[in-house]
Amino acid sequence: MSEGVDAAVIGGGILGLCTALELARAGKRVTLVEQEALAGGTTGHSFAWINATAKRDDRDYHALNAAGMERYVDIARDFGERAIGLEGSGSLHWTHPAGPGGVAGIRHAADVLEGWGYPLARLDRTGLQALEPHVAFPAGAEGFLALADRWIDARRFAHRLASEIADLGGSVRAPCSVTGFLRNRQREIAGIETDRGPIPAATVVIAAGVATARMAALAAGSLLRLPLRAVPGVLVDVPTGPARWVNHVIFLPDAGGLHVRPTGDGGMTIGADDIDAALAGRSDADLGQAPAQALERLATFIPGLPLRDLVAPATVRLGVRPMASDDRPIAGPLPGVAGVYLLATHSGITLGPLLGQLAAREIVSGEPAALLAPYRPSRFTVISS
Ligand SMILES: Cc1cc2nc3c(=O)[nH]c(=O)nc-3n(C[C@H](O)[C@H](O)[C@H](O)COP(=O)(O)OP(=O)(O)OC[C@H]3O[C@@H](n4cnc5c(N)ncnc54)[C@H](O)[C@@H]3O)c2cc1C
Repeated sequence: MSEGVDAAVIGGGILGLCTALELARAGKRVTLVEQEALAGGTTGHSFAWINATAKRDDRDYHALNAAGMERYVDIARDFGERAIGLEGSGSLHWTHPAGPGGVAGIRHAADVLEGWGYPLARLDRTGLQALEPHVAFPAGAEGFLALADRWIDARRFAHRLASEIADLGGSVRAPCSVTGFLRNRQREIAGIETDRGPIPAATVVIAAGVATARMAALAAGSLLRLPLRAVPGVLVDVPTGPARWVNHVIFLPDAGGLHVRPTGDGGMTIGADDIDAALAGRSDADLGQAPAQALERLATFIPGLPLRDLVAPATVRLGVRPMASDDRPIAGPLPGVAGVYLLATHSGITLGPLLGQLAAREIVSGEPAALLAPYRPSRFTVISS
C-alpha cells in the first residue's frame, strides 16, 4: 500500500489538476490519478474559449465566469502566457440586417453585457473589417468585440500544471485508474483503490469529468444518481498555412452556430452548434465529413479560403461536455459521504483555475466559499436506494 496522503484527486483534466495544485500550494500531500493521458478527457477536446460573454441569462453565473477569467491574470503571471498557450485578443460577435432577427439581437447582447460591466467595444462594418481582413462582412454588419476574452492550449496548460504539482512534492500518476474506494472500520471513505494499488487519503476529490456521477455513486455505495449528462461536441483542427485566416474567436451569424478561433501555431479550430446537436444520442456518428462541412461553411464568410488545401490535412476531435441538468457547475461535498468533494462543470476551461482554488480553500479551511453556494451537489434531489 502506498503511503497515505492528505488528498487523492481523481481526474487529470483541468479541474483535477487545478485543485491538486492549489492543495499542494497549501502544503497538503497530494496524489492525482488519471486513467488515460493528462488532458485525455474533455480538457484535451475543448474549444477552450475563456469567457463570460456567452453567459447572459444568469447574472450570478456570468459573475462566476468573469471571476474565472480574472483568475487567468494570476495564471499568466505565475506560468507565463507562452508556456501555457494562453492567447488573447477578444471574441468577435456580429450579425447583419438581412439576417433572421436583424441586428436587434446583437445590440441586446451588447446592452446586457455592458450593463453588467463586461468590457466590450461596439463595431460597425468598418471596425469589424479592420479586425478580420479575410472575412467578407456584408453591408450593415454590426457587432462587438468582447475585449477580455481569451483562449488557451488546454493540453499544454494541463502538462504545466502537472509539473508544478510535482515540483511541490505532489504525485501525478497517469495512466492509473480508480476502481473503488478504501473504507475504514466505520465504513467511511479512507482513500481510493486503483489498478496500481490502494492510495489511502484523508480527502478524495472526484473531478472525473463525465465519469463524476459514476464515481460519486461508487463512493456513496448506493444507486445514487447525480443528474450529469455527457453532451458531445466536435472540433475541426486546421493546421497552419500561408495565411492567418482569423485573428479572434469569431461567432458567425446564421451559420448553425459556427465558431472559429486561431491556434497558437497559425492554424484554426472550428466548431458548430448544429453539428454537435446532430450527434446527441448517437454513438455511430460518422465524423469523416466534419472537416469539409465546417470549412465549406466557413468559406461562405471567408471567400479566399483554399478549401482543397485545407480539408485533407484537417483533423477531428470528439469531446463530451460534463453538463448538470441545470447546466451549472457541481462543486462541494458529496452529501452524506464524509471526506469526498465533487467537482464537475461545463465551461471548465474558463472556470477550472477558479473552481480549483475555491475547492482547495474549502477543503483546507472548512470555510464555505460564497461564490460556490448556488452550485452545491446537495441542490439536486439525489436518487439513492
Ligand atoms: C467541444 C467542446 C468545446 C468546449 N468549449 C469550451 C470553451 O470554449 N470554453 C470552456 O470554458 N469550456 C469548454 N468546454 C468544456 C470544458 O472543456 C470542460 O468543462 C472541461 O474540460 C472539463 O474538465 P474536467 O477536468 O472536469 O474533465 P476532464 O477533462 O474530462 O477530466 C476528467 C478526467 O478524469 C479521468 N477519469 C475518469 N474516470 C477515471 C477513473 N476511474 N480513474 C482515473 N481517472 C478517471 C478522465 O480520463 C478525464 O481525463 C468544451 C467542451 C467540449 C467537449
